[in-house]
This record gives sequence, structure tokens and C-alpha cells, in this order.
Amino acid sequence: MKKRMIYADNAATTKLDAEAFEAMKPFLLEDYANPSQPYSFSRSAKAAIKAARQTIAKCINAEPEEIVFTSGGTESDNWAIKGTAFVYGDLRATLTTQMEHHAVLRACEAVEMLGFPVVYMRVNSEGVLTPETLRRYITDNTKLVSVMYANNEIGSIQPIQALCSVAHETGALFHTDAVQAIGHCAIDVKELGIDMLSASAHKFNGPKGIGFLYVKHGTPLNPFLNGGAQEAGMRAGTENVAAIVGMATALQKNCSSIDVTQRKMEALEAILIGKLKTESISFLRNGSTNHLPGHLSLSFKDADGEALLHRLDLMGICISTGAACDSKSTKTSHVLEAIGLDESFAKGTIRISFGKDNTEEDAIAIGENLISILK
Ligand code: PLP
Repeated sequence: MKKRMIYADNAATTKLDAEAFEAMKPFLLEDYANPSQPYSFSRSAKAAIKAARQTIAKCINAEPEEIVFTSGGTESDNWAIKGTAFVYGDLRATLTTQMEHHAVLRACEAVEMLGFPVVYMRVNSEGVLTPETLRRYITDNTKLVSVMYANNEIGSIQPIQALCSVAHETGALFHTDAVQAIGHCAIDVKELGIDMLSASAHKFNGPKGIGFLYVKHGTPLNPFLNGGAQEAGMRAGTENVAAIVGMATALQKNCSSIDVTQRKMEALEAILIGKLKTESISFLRNGSTNHLPGHLSLSFKDADGEALLHRLDLMGICISTGAACDSKSTKTSHVLEAIGLDESFAKGTIRISFGKDNTEEDAIAIGENLISILK
């Protein structure tokens, strides 16, 4: 009999929602017209893009014209960083944190190479950038502050509203990489004061290879891809209509049940932690108390996170050692370094990220298998 797989790596990617898939199908098989064409066959695709933009905007309290479709989180982050640095203006510097995703860090390094200064701010041991720290770093030359909404390795959620206010005090723009948070945490861009926000559909049960960048009206930003007039001339290229529709369907569905899912995730976390504690397994839980629902970064002293991952894999359980994109590298993760985690704990760190399909039985099974390995 085939072993049942337990997937608990939802921070790496999520399962495509069945309704999202159904919504996508017509645009792959029947309504395949290029939405930019003027004939009537294109109407349905054009209308679907318009409706998807409205749906997504509503989910984060933005205006539809403020949503620009991209190929995912990496592109949205690159665009926010480079599009701001290169746009005409007197200010030059970017401020970000040491624990951002590589999509932000590498984009920052690229603008630095072209002579635009970047400062990588320190975070505290819970992986949080405090407004006071930002205030210490910000100067009159700061053009952009880019701080992730929630960290992909340790799940810490940042005080975004307070950080935005500090950025705006000196006239800087505020971008947040909300790839891990959107669809899992309620986000109101107007209330928070965000100028730009990156999102990726495959992290909220949408398809892979599609995302968006929220760009507040009036934000100075260079176009990312030059070519056709799609996306108001800001991001050229024929739209991936099916993926856009799937993303909107998935986001709306996730956002309509954020509270219920959050309670379920908290229950799964409690089961797993409870199991470890009952068996007197000693561990550190990384991140802040305000963290992504269902996200657990656990460090076991002198254990080997890589070995734990593979042993659990043999038992049919998918978890991660850190960031998905880093799991091929055996280097200590830059996030664990940024929070100052001791090497003896950092090496024995695993990330378990529950999703809406996980059950209590999954949490119990993960706990029991983990305990049997650790013992
Ligand atoms: N930002 C964060 C915080 C992420 O976790 C990820 C993916 O792991 C990305 C950006 C990149 O997103 P994508 O896979 O859509 O390019």
C-alpha cells in the first residue's frame, strides 16, 4: 500500500485550490484569446482580468488600478527595489533588513553595484525590526524602506504600520514583501500605509508563476518590463489569464476564511508543541509570538536538521530545514544568523509549516515521528 504523505511545508508552496483550478480551465482550453485583441473572442479574457484585479484589490483594500500582475514574488520584489532605486529623484538610499528573502537581498546587491547605497538593518533575536531601530538607520537620503511582512523561515511578523509611519516621517517609501503573509493574515494596505506590497499566488493555494505588486497611486516607480502596453505600460507581456484568474479565486477564498484557518493552525501548532513537551524533548522555538499561523521553526541542540528532514521524508513527511530555495545549501541560514542563533541550535533547525489541508492526525504523526527520531 502506498504510504500516506503528510505535507507540512506550506511556506515553500501550497496545493492548488480545486476551485481555483476549475476557474482557470476555461482560459486554457476555450477562452484562450489574447486579451489585448479588439475582436469579441477576447472579451471574456479581458473581462476576467478586470474582475480578477478587482477581486484582489478588495482583498487588501486597494484600488484595482493599484494591482499589477507579475510572475511571482521574486519579480515583485525585484521590481519594487530596482524600480524605486532607478526612478528619477534626489534620494538614493535603500534600507532593508538582514533577514529578507534573497529576492530582496540580491536585488539590493544589484542596485548597490550600480552605486545606489543599501543598508542591511539588524533585527532583534525574535526576528523583528523595531520602529526604534528603523529610526536609528533612516536618513534624509533614504528613498525606500523594504521590510518583509512575515519571515519565511521563522514566521515573525513585523510591526508594519509603525515601520511605515517612521519611513514616511522622512519622506521615504515603504515596500513590504508579503509573500508569506497574504492570504494568511488580514492585510489592509490603506490602514497600514504601505506604498508597495509583493505577493505570490502559490503561497496561498493559487498557481505557481503568478503574483502581483501593489503600487499605491502616485508612487514613483520605473516600469519593470518594457514592450507592449499591458499593465498600463508598467509590465509588458501577454497576460497569463488563467493564472491571474486562479490567483484571484484562491486569494478571495483564503481571505474569506482567515480567522477560521488561523484558529485551526493554532490548534495544530499546540498539538505538536504539546507532544514534544510531554516527551520532555528540549527545543527552542524561533521567531516572535506574533507569527505566521501554522508556522513553527524549531531548533534542537546538536541535532542535524538536514538529517531530520531526510528521516522524516522516509516516513512520508515533508518539512524543511529553512527557506525552500536554501535547502540545497548546507550553510547556516542568513535568517538564523541574523537573529543570532547559536550554531549548535542553528544546525538542528527545522521548519514545519501547516496549511489548511492539514489535520490533527498530521500534527500528531509529525510529533510522534520527530520524537522517535530525536530519541
Ligand atoms: N519572498 C518570500 C518571503 C518568499 O518566501 C518567497 C518564496 O519562497 C519569495 C519571496 C519568492 O516568491 P516566488 O517563489 O513567487 O518567486
